[in-house]
Amino acid sequence: MSAAKKRVAVVGTGTIGSQAAWRLAARGADVVAYDRFAPGHDRSAAGGETRVFRSLHTDNGRYVPLVRHADTLWKQLQAETGRELRRLTGCLYMGPADDPGMRKALEVIAEYGLDHEVLDAEAVAKRFPLHRVDEGDLVILDRYAGFIRPELTVQTAARRAEELGAQIRRYTPVREVKPVAGGGVEIRTETGTERFDAAVVTPGPWVGDLLPDLPWQVNVYRPVSAWFLLTEDHRGGAEAPNFCRIGPNSFYGLPSPDGVSVKLGLFQAHHQPVDDPNRLNRTVAPEELEAFTAVVRRYLPGLNPDPIRFSAYMEGYTDSTRPLVGPLPGCDDIILLAGFSGQGFKVSPAMGDIAADLALEGRTAHSIDFITTLGRTAA
Ligand SMILES: Cc1cc2nc3c(=O)[nH]c(=O)nc-3n(C[C@H](O)[C@H](O)[C@H](O)COP(=O)(O)OP(=O)(O)OC[C@H]3O[C@@H](n4cnc5c(N)ncnc54)[C@H](O)[C@@H]3O)c2cc1C
Repeated sequence: MSAAKKRVAVVGTGTIGSQAAWRLAARGADVVAYDRFAPGHDRSAAGGETRVFRSLHTDNGRYVPLVRHADTLWKQLQAETGRELRRLTGCLYMGPADDPGMRKALEVIAEYGLDHEVLDAEAVAKRFPLHRVDEGDLVILDRYAGFIRPELTVQTAARRAEELGAQIRRYTPVREVKPVAGGGVEIRTETGTERFDAAVVTPGPWVGDLLPDLPWQVNVYRPVSAWFLLTEDHRGGAEAPNFCRIGPNSFYGLPSPDGVSVKLGLFQAHHQPVDDPNRLNRTVAPEELEAFTAVVRRYLPGLNPDPIRFSAYMEGYTDSTRPLVGPLPGCDDIILLAGFSGQGFKVSPAMGDIAADLALEGRTAHSIDFITTLGRTAA
């Protein structure tokens, strides 16, 4: 059977699955995608108005080529649909100059020739008065960075896939994904079983629910986002850069597209574990906001410390924080992409394209062996 004629299921049309459905349909596959909700919902990893897009990675520079591939596809999806899914405003990295993350950032910049500026405290105070830095901090501006609109992106990729012929079965949870002897995959839902040549499985935090026998652990956590108003002197924030503080007091933030508020997030150590993704506690208790208020008081003099909005989401984390990408052991027709550990949005179009490579060709030319792979993936 030619690759273009393959019938491929996509299980979960969230961040990665909606992109996989687009890339598969664009390459001529016969695509049926399923979601327990509908594309663009905010009940798992994809809600909350904005996500950071950045070229620079302070933990592993090998993400940079994936970000570059994703960048090409971000532009392509925007051009094909006329929607502004991403806006490039830059990203500031701040942290102690001797912190391993900040040192790694400089190494990655040098290795990949990233467009950047190193700023001193005086330049930060003049150009970015929203921020206060500690003595001994290094500040780097990653110029090729900005924010993504997550709900709009997921819905746009899914709709584009539909325009290209994909069928999306909304509010249809998949109960089982099963290899068929001799090749192919069966997908079982409440309404019946369908047969495919291959399946791309992208259930996000539900991965343990759907594939309970997976030999890798994906732990689900509950990140909280909180929004704060800019003070009167700091209006016009929508064009200001995102920011990440690296080191002991780490947090990140994104000016909201409305121009009057900034969203803040904390890193994994602050997230509560989620026992059952079907019972996410979406209520944020007042004491959960104390760490945010402390960050605002210490580092963000341009924000009013009373939050105006807060929400809880879910994300799957692997122990290594590297995602699971590749065919399931012993079953080349089931391609799993899960456990993105707080890193998945910026690279999601690239991941969708790689999923299409693996489902249609059985290999990909993109270098993903540094990610926890589940089987044979390199070309
Ligand atoms: C608050 C927060 C902030 C983040 N910030 C950033 C950031 O700034 N930059 C960045 O790059 N990344 C960021 N991330 C990480 C990024 O958002 C995630 O890595 C990414 O969204 C994960 O995508 P996914 O497709 O694995 O999961 P999801 O987007 O959650 O998609 C999973 C989909 O599968 C569906 N599904 C599940 N089970 C089934 C089933 N059995 N049948 C049918 N459908 C099913 C779900 O309904 C859902 O639509 C952040 C994550 C969170 C939570």
